[in-house]
Formats: sequence, C-alpha cells, structure tokens
Amino acid sequence: MSQESLKSPLPKNSTSKAAPSLDILLNWTDQHIFNLKNLIRPAPESKPRTPFATNLPKEKVSMRNLTGRQLLQVIPKFLPLLANMVLGSRMYDREFKASSSQADPKFIADLEAMARAAGAKDIAYIKVPPNAIFQGKGIPGEYAIVFTVEMDKEPISTAPSFECQLEVMEGYKRMSTISNRLAHHLRKNGFAAYPGTALGGLTDYVHLAELAGLGAIGYHGLLISPGEGARLRLNTIYTNITNLPTLEARGETNEHLWVRDFCAMCNKCVRKCPVDAIYNQPRPRGDGGYQSIDHASCRDYFTEHNGCGVCLAVCPFSQIGYEKVHAGFKGNDHAPQLRITAQH
Ligand code: SF4
Ligand code: SF4
Repeated sequence: MSQESLKSPLPKNSTSKAAPSLDILLNWTDQHIFNLKNLIRPAPESKPRTPFATNLPKEKVSMRNLTGRQLLQVIPKFLPLLANMVLGSRMYDREFKASSSQADPKFIADLEAMARAAGAKDIAYIKVPPNAIFQGKGIPGEYAIVFTVEMDKEPISTAPSFECQLEVMEGYKRMSTISNRLAHHLRKNGFAAYPGTALGGLTDYVHLAELAGLGAIGYHGLLISPGEGARLRLNTIYTNITNLPTLEARGETNEHLWVRDFCAMCNKCVRKCPVDAIYNQPRPRGDGGYQSIDHASCRDYFTEHNGCGVCLAVCPFSQIGYEKVHAGFKGNDHAPQLRITAQH
C-alpha cells in the first residue's frame, strides 16, 4: 500500500451534503490486507459487505448531534475502538512467518480462558468457507476463531436510544481489545494470527458464527445464542492453526437451528421494526446465506436513531433468554427449513 493512502481515511474537500460514511474508515483499514500475498479470496457468489452510507443530510445523523455530555461518554469508547482497529489493521502489513500450525488442547483451553478473562462470552472455530468472505476482500488464514461479547439487557432494552448505542459501542470496543490481544498471544506462540475488525470485517461474522455452532441466525438477521439471545456482538481472528476443535472436527452439528422454527411463529421483530425493513421470512441471497433485512429501508432510520436496535431489543431471546424460550417451545412442524451452507 502506498504511503499516500495511509495518510488519512477521510476525503479532502468533500462538498457533499451527506455525512461522511463509516465505510470510508472501514475500507481504509481493510486496505492493509493487500500487503499480503497469500490471501484466500471470496467465492464468485460471495456478496459485498453491506455499506453504512446514507444520503441523510449531516444534521439528521444522530452521531453528529450529540450533546456535550453524550460526547464525553462516547469518546472513551470510540477512541480506543478506533486505535485498536488501526493497530489491528497494521498486523496485516506483513506476512507473519508461523512456526507451527498445530495447537495442543491445553493451549486452546488457555486461549479461551484468556479470552473470557478479557470479556469474551463464547468462542468457537470454523474453517472459513470462501462464500462467507466479502466480495473485494480476502483473508490471510484458512481458519477463524469466532467469539461473542454480551451486551447488557438494561441499556439495550431502551432502543432506539443513546444508551443503547453506547452499550453497542462498548461491545465493539471490548471486541477490538480482545481480538488484538489474542492475535498477539497466538503470534507469540508461533501461530499466524490476524484480528478481524470489530466494525465491518472481511467476512460475514454472523454466517461464520452459525456455521461454527455458536447459535442460529434469527429472522432479524442477528445471531441468537444461549444465555443472552441476540444481545451480543461478534468478532473473529484469522489463523493458520488447522487442528482447531471445529464442530466438524468434533463430529457435531449445530444444535441451535430450532431457533428459526420459533422465529417462523414469532415474527415480533418483523412487526416492531419502525420502518418495516425486516422480511416476513428471510430470502435466499445466492451465496449460501439469507437476506433478512431490506438494508435500504433500515439504513436511514438506523442512522437517524442512534443505530436503532429495536429488533435486537424486542426479540424474546434477548428479553427472557434462550433457555426459557427453548423450555416453552413445543416445536413448529410448518416452519420453513432455512439452512445456510458452507462452500469449501
Ligand atoms: S423477534 Fe421473534 S422472529 Fe424476530 S428474531 Fe427474535 S424470535 Fe425470531
Ligand atoms: S435496526 Fe431498526 S430499522 Fe433496522 S431492521 Fe432493526 S428494527 Fe428495523
């Protein structure tokens, strides 16, 4: 990458009335991957990452209209997130020469303990299928460590609100710290490791998380997982370790897919979305995954209302928890069997 492109993520002399988009920053951090020679590329049918950009004028963007007090709450979350994203992206500047691709079970157990101590909730592993890599991107390792962080119920239940957005930002900040820390630990032990960016990303984290067995994607397009339901955020670390305890290696299948049978009866997020952006039933999108949301409809409301989050807040899995929903669910023989696929 040229030095020129490293100078600033923001365009000079922009005359647009629309607010500068987060996409500019994300694409700028992504550029570091092209310093690496051996990227695994997306499948022909892979989709591009959903952009954040809207045509809303700057004065309607909630993040640009924060009070001084709110700004003081945002800065301690956003600045470390930004710093971690920049530091993480620099780990893609040169190829890490791994000395091993086999990790023993104790090392993996210690890694998980380290991740949990730093604030991760659940961790799983996946051989990344190329159809989960976004079009125009690439990844430097065949395998991914996928982890969740939980967001607190109280602020999330106030969505759409500044409090909810702050909690989401806290989740992103925590994920960016964890992924960088684990990637450095892996490298110190001779393994190649590249942290995924907390915001954006090179792969479809939700798709990976379901294939890894962390939970199931609900009709709102978010992962639903034991315990916190949809009140979670996801991140990854790409690695060269080939003997990770993936679902496949353990001879297991995802036990959470009943969640979508429940969704087919519930549809609460569909009814409660303020702009009717959630489809009654997710639609195949041609890359092995499903499209749950009309992003064009969601985006402006999302940008104008603190990242919205109503679908996440009203979901029964977020409110009463996965286990209670499961205990009361008697099955749904009429539910469409929607299955996302991995392409290897
Ligand atoms: S609100 Fe209902 S339909 Fe929507 S994701 Fe949650 S359980 Fe599924
Ligand atoms: S974030 Fe808000 S606008 Fe977007 S799909 Fe969810 S409820 Fe609808």
